Amino acid sequence: MKRIFSGVQPTGNLHLGNYLGAIRNWVRLQNEYECIFCVVDMHAITVWQDPAELKKATREVTASFIAAGIDPEKHVLFNQSAVPAHAQLAWVFNCVARIGWLNRMTQFKEKAGKHRENASVGLYAYPNLMAADILSYKATHVPVGEDQKQHLELSRDIAQKFNNDFEAEVFPLPEPLIFGSATRVMSLRDGTKKMSKSAESDFSRINMTDSADTIAQKIRKAKTDPEPLPESLDGLDSRPEAANLVGIYAALRDIDRAQAIAEVGGKPFSEFKGILTEVAVEHLAPINARMRELLDDPAQIDAVLHRGMERARAISEPVIDEVYEKVGFLKP
Ligand code: ATP
Ligand code: MG
Repeated sequence: MKRIFSGVQPTGNLHLGNYLGAIRNWVRLQNEYECIFCVVDMHAITVWQDPAELKKATREVTASFIAAGIDPEKHVLFNQSAVPAHAQLAWVFNCVARIGWLNRMTQFKEKAGKHRENASVGLYAYPNLMAADILSYKATHVPVGEDQKQHLELSRDIAQKFNNDFEAEVFPLPEPLIFGSATRVMSLRDGTKKMSKSAESDFSRINMTDSADTIAQKIRKAKTDPEPLPESLDGLDSRPEAANLVGIYAALRDIDRAQAIAEVGGKPFSEFKGILTEVAVEHLAPINARMRELLDDPAQIDAVLHRGMERARAISEPVIDEVYEKVGFLKP
């Protein structure tokens, strides 16, 4: 059985990058795979989260999963902290992974910034927890954006070292699933940085909860250069902001970048931005409306997460038993 694990942090509003680079693809995988969808609240607290906001964001992310088309009846949808296996296996992996491996992780360097000494230990050990997320379910495939590829490779290294150290094929080596044109959506303010929930400026991203007016305003203000769009793909890659907007357009339309350029190449940004706004609004409005409906009934969302928790525990508990036995933990 092919099993997928995927997670989103409740660190704030989901944005177009999360949607195009992750959730939309997950929706499409539901027929082919058994899917475990997780709101990774334990990852979120690797940087400071206001406790009340964290609860709110956990429900919001859950609602956006469902609004985008994730089916919590067919698949497992839950929040990470509700299932002990993640923390249990993460500790074992803290003792399997090597410091040298973690020192190579670029996300830590980016998120810790200049004051690395002040970053939480959790932020440093984040990739070990991610390995635990995946391997608690012996997931075989992980759909990841470009930004998580390095972490997934580390998960494979951890799985392999565990299997070697304990001379047993306990874990599969999880494979990445990487998708089409918008695997990396960039910031609207800087085409060289990825669109991110935790970036300070709200104008750097389009949130899944943004109204049509806000979307229009953000696209209008998006950074560009003075030239019209190029007539062919060749001219695009040296222009990060233009490349990003064309990439977003292509992803929303579900076409490749060459087709997108055939449609909108040569247009000035003023005109292209109008077209892009229309496509974005058309796409996000129904998801937005469904999300609002769901959030009107928090008890219903909590019930979905509760059911997901039970199913996730049922899968992961035997895996933890197996790991503890291999490691040599006595079960009195
Ligand atoms: P944070 O800034 O708090 O790390 P984030 O925006 O990076 O938030 P995550 O919760 O870390 O979001 O990632 C959730 C999923 O969305 C992952 O699969 C990740 O690969 C994907 N993702 C995040 N940002 C982008 C982006 N800009 N483009 C495409 N996919 C993205
Ligand atoms: Mg991230």
